[in-house]
Amino acid sequence: MTLPSQAAVVVIGGGIIGCSTAYHLARDHKVDVVLLEQGKLTSGSTWHAAGLVGQLRSSASITRVLKYSVDLYKGLEAETGLATGWKMTGCLRLATNADRWTEYKRLATTAKSFGMDMHLLSPAEVKAMWPLMETGDLVGASWLPTDGQASPSDITQSLAKGARMHGAKLYEDVRVTGFEMKGDRITAVKTDQGDIACDKVVNCAGQWARQVGAMAGINVPLQPVKHQYIVTEKIAGLATDAPTLRDPDRRTYFKEEVGGLVMGGYEPNPQAWTTGEVPNDWEFRLFDDDYDHFEQHLIQAIARVPALETVGVKQMINGPESFTPDGNFILGVAPECANMFVGAGFNAFGIASGGGAGWVLAQWVVDGEAPLDLWVVDIRRFSNLHRDRHWVCERTLEAYGKHYTIGFPHEEYASGRPRIVSPLYERLKRQRAVFGSKLGWERPNWFAPESVEPKDVYSMGRQNWFAAVGDEHRHVREHVGIFDQSSFAKYELSGPDAAKALDWICANDVSKPVGRLTYTQLLNTRGGIEADLTVSRLAEEKFYIVTGTGFRTHDASWISDHIGEGLDARLTDVTEDFGTLSLMGPRARDVLSAVTGSDVSNASFPFGHIREIVIAGHTVRALRVTYVGELGWELHVPIAATGEVFDALMAAGKEHDIRPVGYRALESLRLEKGYRAWGSDITPNDTPLEAGLGWAVKLRKNTDFVGRRALEKVGGASLKKRFAGFTVDDPEIVLLGRETILRDGEPVGYLTSGGHGYTVGKNIGYGYVRSADGVSDDFLASGSYELVVAMQRTPANIHLEPLYDPAMERVKA
Ligand SMILES: Cc1cc2nc3c(=O)[nH]c(=O)nc-3n(C[C@H](O)[C@H](O)[C@H](O)COP(=O)(O)OP(=O)(O)OC[C@H]3O[C@@H](n4cnc5c(N)ncnc54)[C@H](O)[C@@H]3O)c2cc1C
Repeated sequence: MTLPSQAAVVVIGGGIIGCSTAYHLARDHKVDVVLLEQGKLTSGSTWHAAGLVGQLRSSASITRVLKYSVDLYKGLEAETGLATGWKMTGCLRLATNADRWTEYKRLATTAKSFGMDMHLLSPAEVKAMWPLMETGDLVGASWLPTDGQASPSDITQSLAKGARMHGAKLYEDVRVTGFEMKGDRITAVKTDQGDIACDKVVNCAGQWARQVGAMAGINVPLQPVKHQYIVTEKIAGLATDAPTLRDPDRRTYFKEEVGGLVMGGYEPNPQAWTTGEVPNDWEFRLFDDDYDHFEQHLIQAIARVPALETVGVKQMINGPESFTPDGNFILGVAPECANMFVGAGFNAFGIASGGGAGWVLAQWVVDGEAPLDLWVVDIRRFSNLHRDRHWVCERTLEAYGKHYTIGFPHEEYASGRPRIVSPLYERLKRQRAVFGSKLGWERPNWFAPESVEPKDVYSMGRQNWFAAVGDEHRHVREHVGIFDQSSFAKYELSGPDAAKALDWICANDVSKPVGRLTYTQLLNTRGGIEADLTVSRLAEEKFYIVTGTGFRTHDASWISDHIGEGLDARLTDVTEDFGTLSLMGPRARDVLSAVTGSDVSNASFPFGHIREIVIAGHTVRALRVTYVGELGWELHVPIAATGEVFDALMAAGKEHDIRPVGYRALESLRLEKGYRAWGSDITPNDTPLEAGLGWAVKLRKNTDFVGRRALEKVGGASLKKRFAGFTVDDPEIVLLGRETILRDGEPVGYLTSGGHGYTVGKNIGYGYVRSADGVSDDFLASGSYELVVAMQRTPANIHLEPLYDPAMERVKA
């Protein structure tokens, strides 16, 4: 065998993900693709997967990706002649308590919102479907008839054959040993059998993806964890088409296999494999059986399926699988390297994801842009923090242990905290702050009054912080609050061509005079919203860019990647150089003018401006902007001075009743004001026109910018979906997002955000109303609306204007 000396794309790894990616690159894009596998195809994690295929996730796009897998597996045999073992058995999920039942009612609503039918069944119905099961402790079960199971190795071989049929070249027993690099680009893949020059590389190396990435300087934060299941002998009375079964309250799952059962589980005390290098010679290998560790699952499984007590165990599988710190897989172009794409870290749903992940990854490789909103799996959701292997391991094990726990709203991770703290951490803790964490930063979510323990108590209804957050919210509306937003990501773009670069990157006109601040979206070529941030002009050749904490790596990569060829503009991340104190509320000016000699009157410091002012002897960047709909400033303070400036504001604010306020109040305030949140309300799937943000796009100017052409194309036509607000009066309802929107009784969309507005005294949701015939003002206004919340219909009112507007601020100014 001789390897080709060059290829357009080299895919590394012959597991299900690599084979699916190669298949889609060859089939859909006719790309000259070479796949390299160090052992035999499937010999990593793929061959020993259990083969359950579920589809529903909390993200609409990822659910679409998983649905695609199922469609692909159904039809692949017809194309390649190789069966995939796909069986649409349906999936039962059991509930043994009220919280779990509420979770399923919400899941069933989410399924409906995403176009799938999930039903809730009684214990008797469950028993009829799965007679070998003990149902005495059940409240009921959810039933998704279109889920199923497949044979992992067969799917992979079928995809490999399909890839070859479409012209891909697949090589076994070829190990990638390094890369030839030019700057941040790979020019050739080195192997133990020669080099292959190439334009792009796709790293689908499973649990080896971390070390393959490291050879090109990129970080793939995954952790191999040992995962076990057993395969039993035949069990009398078990139907060959028995639904797959998940019993999360007993942390176990089941699948029929040649008349017996596959049974495995997710234990709260998982065992990490190595945090060092994964050995190369791990072809078709397993760990030794570990019945001591597995016993906890056996006990639970026998209680559910008593036949397991007597049936023989044919085989135990104890294999490694890559897990990640947030339970989502890792896809996309690596921020550290211009032409390495990654598809790895599949958290034991790589078989379910494989077909769809290969489809979207191939598209991403070809276009350089994700084809839909893949933010939750995007490799740019990580940061330098994720280079710390021990931190990643600890958080990953926590995520694994939570795989089957009830998903309470607003739940925070506990491990690896505190990790990054603002200079105000101790001060705010003394004020009874309850913190959450975002990209490693501790951030105050709320402040507990003396009568309440400073700790989240999770439940499915209103949680223990509800009233305290209401007080914080009202305080900002009526007096003044101070938010510690030091974790904001901050960059400076400098250079003679900085303005020119931003003209192309930003949808809004940011090339304003020095001292002006602009709210803008960054769009992809489809006109979808890739980022949402503020850009302030500090000097002719210097801009200050502020974005959300979690978007730090993503937005910086997006900006850097889109600086036009040959332009002289440099992006620097200055996040840790500045603490951020947001002073918000009708008394904000009184407080600010008491601590600075600068004129902060509306006339000399209007909305949408940035000024340097001095507070407590420190030069502070003051940005007149708001995310709460009140008068306010974001004060960007040299990080070491954050404490002093905070103390000065608190002292001067005393007579105006200043108080620290947390992120949960911020969320409620922004919901009332109708500000959109990136990642939920506005995503790469949505254009500013659909999102009601057309006013922030410079279509009337003659400047070209990314996404312009796409927006112009849809400009004249009526939009097929439009963003709208909804309120629900019933105080018992809890809105979280993904609830179905009904217009005249028909589903027209789902909520992208949900919460409570304490000033308006109502529950608030936002979402897109869709209609294939176009969504006009008339269409929106003329309907009668309801929301489906945990399967219950509740009347709702639609709103096209902010629910609360103090009129003193005009964000559109
Ligand atoms: C016990 C167990 C049960 C599971 N059950 C399920 C289930 O029911 N449903 C489900 O959806 N998922 C399940 N999974 C998960 C599933 O197996 C994985 O998510 C999936 O196989 C990952 O595929 P992959 O292609 O990313 O990785 P792999 O299959 O590991 O493929 C990566 C390949 O890259 C190759 N490679 C690495 N380094 C190099 C190099 N330098 N040069 C060349 N080649 C290289 C490796 O040899 C390997 O073959 C389970 C996993 C385990 C462990």
